[in-house]
Amino acid sequence: MTAKTRLDDLHIETLAVRAAVERSQYGENSEALYLTSGYVQPTAAAAAARFAGDEEGYTYGRYGNPTVSSMEMRLAALEGTEAAMGTASGMAAILMMCMGLLKAGDHVVCSRSMFGSTIKLIGSDLAKFGVESSFVSQTDLNEWQAAVRPNTRLLFAETPTNPLTEVCDIQALADIAHNAGALFAVDNCFATPALQRPVAMGADIIMHSGTKYLDGQGRVMAGALCASQEMITEKFLPVLKSGGMTLAPFNAWVVLKGMETLDLRMRAQTARAQILAEWLEKHPAVARVHYPGLASHPQHDLAMRQMSGLGGAVLSFDVKAEGPEQSRQRAFHVMDQMQMLSLATNLGDTKTMVAHPASTSHGRLTEAQRQAAGIGQGLIRVAVGLEYPQDVQADLTRGLDTF
Ligand SMILES: *Cc1c(COP(=O)(O)O)cnc(C)c1O
Repeated sequence: MTAKTRLDDLHIETLAVRAAVERSQYGENSEALYLTSGYVQPTAAAAAARFAGDEEGYTYGRYGNPTVSSMEMRLAALEGTEAAMGTASGMAAILMMCMGLLKAGDHVVCSRSMFGSTIKLIGSDLAKFGVESSFVSQTDLNEWQAAVRPNTRLLFAETPTNPLTEVCDIQALADIAHNAGALFAVDNCFATPALQRPVAMGADIIMHSGTKYLDGQGRVMAGALCASQEMITEKFLPVLKSGGMTLAPFNAWVVLKGMETLDLRMRAQTARAQILAEWLEKHPAVARVHYPGLASHPQHDLAMRQMSGLGGAVLSFDVKAEGPEQSRQRAFHVMDQMQMLSLATNLGDTKTMVAHPASTSHGRLTEAQRQAAGIGQGLIRVAVGLEYPQDVQADLTRGLDTF
C-alpha cells in the first residue's frame, strides 16, 4: 500500500530516513507504531467504500496498517518501485507472489542454487497445486532460455545466491523473461537496494526477507514484495486479504527503523567481508573462498557491475579435506572451536554468523539436489557483521590452525 507523498525528488539516502506515512497530530519525529487490529470508520458509507476499495482508508489489520504502510513506502522508495507489500516473512512473500501470479498449468523457471526453502516451496509444495517448475543453472543463460515453455509465466532468480554467492545476469534474464511474455522476479535479500537495484536492470518484482539486512539486527521476521502499484493492488492485495500472510505492525516498525541505517551497515559489513575473504583465500587450511568481491570469483566482473562495485556481506569457504566425511568433521570442528562468533543460520545481523549449509539451510534437500547446488560437506558460510575484522579472524583461526 502507498500513500501520497511529496518525496518524489529526494535521493535514496534521504528516502531511507524520510519516506513514511504522514505524522500523526502529535508530530512524532520517530515514526509511530500503530498497534491496532481494527479501525473506527467515520460513516457507514465510508466503511462500505473502503471495503469495496473505492476509497483509501484502513479497515482491518489483516488488510493494512499505517506502520506497515510506512515500511512499504520506504522499501519501495529504496528499490525504485511504485509500491510494496509487507508480508510475515520472506517465504510468505514468495508464497504470495506465486499465489498472486500463477495457476495450475503455469510454469516457473528458477535457479537450482536458490535458497533451500524456495526450492522446496516452488519445486514441491506448489507442484501439489499443478504449478510446474524447472530448475536451471544460476549462471548459464542458455539453460534459462531452453527451459522457457509456452506456459512459462515467471522467472525467479536470487543474486548473489546463498551460500555460494553465485551471480546471475539480471538484465539478460529480464530480457529472456520479457521475450517469452513472462515476468522476472529477483530475490534481493543478499545485495539489498543499498548495493543493487534490480528494477533498474529490468526486473518486474523484487522479493525481500526483511528478516535479513533490512532489519539488520536480527530481531524480527518480515518480508515484502516490491512491484508496480497495479500489480500490488490487483494481484497481491487479494492474496493478502484471503491468505493472511500479513506483516505484524511491530515487526514492520523494527524493519522501518532498520532501513534508516541499511546503506551504512551494508557498506561497513561489505568492507569487513572483503577483508575476511582475502584473508581466508590465503589460509593454508582453506580450499576455496566464494565471494563476489574476489577477483577469483567466476562472475566477479558482472557482480561488480550489478552490485555498485561491492561484494556484499556474505561469503562461504570450503575447508581442505579428503572426502565428504572428513570435510564435515573439519567444518564442524572449525565452528565448534569458535568462542565469539554466532553458530546460527540467520544472516544480515550486526553479529557475524557462521553456519554449515549442508546440514542446516540445505538440510531438507536430497543429497542429489545438494550436489546439484554445489553445497559440499566442508562448506562454511559466514554472514559478516560489524565486529573488528581481526577479532573475527582470530575466532576462526582456533579451528582452522589445527589442521
Ligand atoms: C532468509 C531468506 C529467505 C526467506 O526469508 P524468511 O524471512 O526467513 O522467510 C529467502 N531468500 C533468501 C535469499 C534468504 O536469505
